[in-house]
Amino acid sequence: MKSIIWFRNDLRLDDNPSLREACKNSSELHAIFLYSHDQLEKHNEANVKIDFLIKSLQSLNVSLQKLNIPLTIVNSEGFEQDPDIILNLAKERNVEKVFINKQFGNDEQNRDKRARELLNAANIKTEFFNDQIVYEAGSIRTGQDNPYSVFTPFKRKWVESFDMEFLDIDFDYAPQKNIDMKSNFDSFDFKHEIKHKADMSLWPAGEEHASNRLVDFLKNRAVNYSKDRNDPIKDGTSRMSPYLALGVISSKRCILEGLKLNNFEFNSGNSGITKWIDEIVWREFYRNIMFSFPKVGRNQPFQDFSKSIEWRFEESELHAWKTGMTGFPIIDAAMRQLLHEGWMHNRLRMVVAMFFTKNMLHDWRLGEAYFMQNLIDGDFASNNGGWQWSSSTGTDAAPYFRIFNPVTQSTNFDKEGLFIKKYVPELKDLDKSVIHDPPKEHRKYCGYPDQILDLKTSRLRAIDAFKEAKS
Ligand SMILES: Cc1cc2nc3c(=O)[nH]c(=O)nc-3n(C[C@H](O)[C@H](O)[C@H](O)COP(=O)(O)OP(=O)(O)OC[C@H]3O[C@@H](n4cnc5c(N)ncnc54)[C@H](O)[C@@H]3O)c2cc1C
Repeated sequence: MKSIIWFRNDLRLDDNPSLREACKNSSELHAIFLYSHDQLEKHNEANVKIDFLIKSLQSLNVSLQKLNIPLTIVNSEGFEQDPDIILNLAKERNVEKVFINKQFGNDEQNRDKRARELLNAANIKTEFFNDQIVYEAGSIRTGQDNPYSVFTPFKRKWVESFDMEFLDIDFDYAPQKNIDMKSNFDSFDFKHEIKHKADMSLWPAGEEHASNRLVDFLKNRAVNYSKDRNDPIKDGTSRMSPYLALGVISSKRCILEGLKLNNFEFNSGNSGITKWIDEIVWREFYRNIMFSFPKVGRNQPFQDFSKSIEWRFEESELHAWKTGMTGFPIIDAAMRQLLHEGWMHNRLRMVVAMFFTKNMLHDWRLGEAYFMQNLIDGDFASNNGGWQWSSSTGTDAAPYFRIFNPVTQSTNFDKEGLFIKKYVPELKDLDKSVIHDPPKEHRKYCGYPDQILDLKTSRLRAIDAFKEAKS
């Protein structure tokens, strides 16, 4: 059988169910990737993430060449056009079947429904596979047959129902029949102008690097994960997120390798590894939320009451937040890390998002979009989940009156002020006793701005706005 494998958010060979089945069942296999710069920008995908995507595709192409599978990149205007392009390619190449891994976004699901209809109407078979999360989306349900909206019971059910056969993912690919077709990767014009300033040496592209990073983290740092994960100056987390976001590695592979080191236990054994697997389950949770509550993908909050919150908008505050000039050193260090690395530490994502939505009382959707536009690991479900958690508008969200104090967070999690010194170098000579909240004269001396707001009054303002919306 002559087939197409349509790559999208699954840029890997390892644990790729659609590629595996396509290889097992095809006599001739063609790989396709539809590239639409407009579509990527429409979904706020960051310039740095597109850079990483192109590099990841390059690496995928090299791996596919070894299997005699030519990768064709086709320019598309966007999701609307994708189904017709796939249909035309399938017809031109006399293909009998298209193999596809599922995606969960509203736009992605509509595109896939249309593609399936068009292909099936032309007598071309389609088969969809689940590769993004462990269980089929929406299949983990409460006793009343509802989707979960709180993490802890979701996780309990997720672990209880776990079947170790899910992790039967190792597969040896054999090269396909050599066909007279070459990949167009090298000649394809991605029309991508690099505008970001992130240090890409932090993010070597490709499956091999993703796998090495996983092995290194599990071997050297996972045991201390519970202890080190909240300290932003320590390299205490895995930094696997950019690879997971583009599907360069699968969550099953991460879980399997973690479990191997923990006697296949989810709830006991090494607390670093179990805590780390919990985080992967958070990722699964938010993907399920996105699937079961499509409103979150339509710019709506999960909690309906929060539609009545009267958000403020102050351009100068927004600008100060984006550029790391709020006068709160930990916030500024975090926002500058985002621009330097295309990535931000998880604790700091929560701190800056809460500051944005509570102290600044700005609409979470503005912060959500800015993160997507700048994160190399931008992932709609996790980003939306994180923003809605921080702004108390989402599932399982932080109670609206529990507002992080950025100075306390800084003192607790960046005790020596080393993270601040790294990203806000104008404060590098300050002692840890003053660096978290420098006195006025120190600010002046260092050329560092005054605080854009008063923490106490802005906190009360936020609580009032939430109370008002709830009443
Ligand atoms: C406001 C906000 C926005 C966020 N935006 C994104 C985003 O766009 N993309 C993204 O991948 N994550 C996002 N997160 C979740 C989390 O911050 C990152 O996944 C994590 O910092 C990535 O670093 P790591 O790979 O070292 O994580 P590790 O601590 O090593 O965790 C391993 C993996 O688990 C997953 N994970 C960890 N924490 C979470 C979480 N809270 N929610 C969902 N998945 C999680 C990630 O895939 C991560 O790579 C956001 C969190 C917040 C609070």
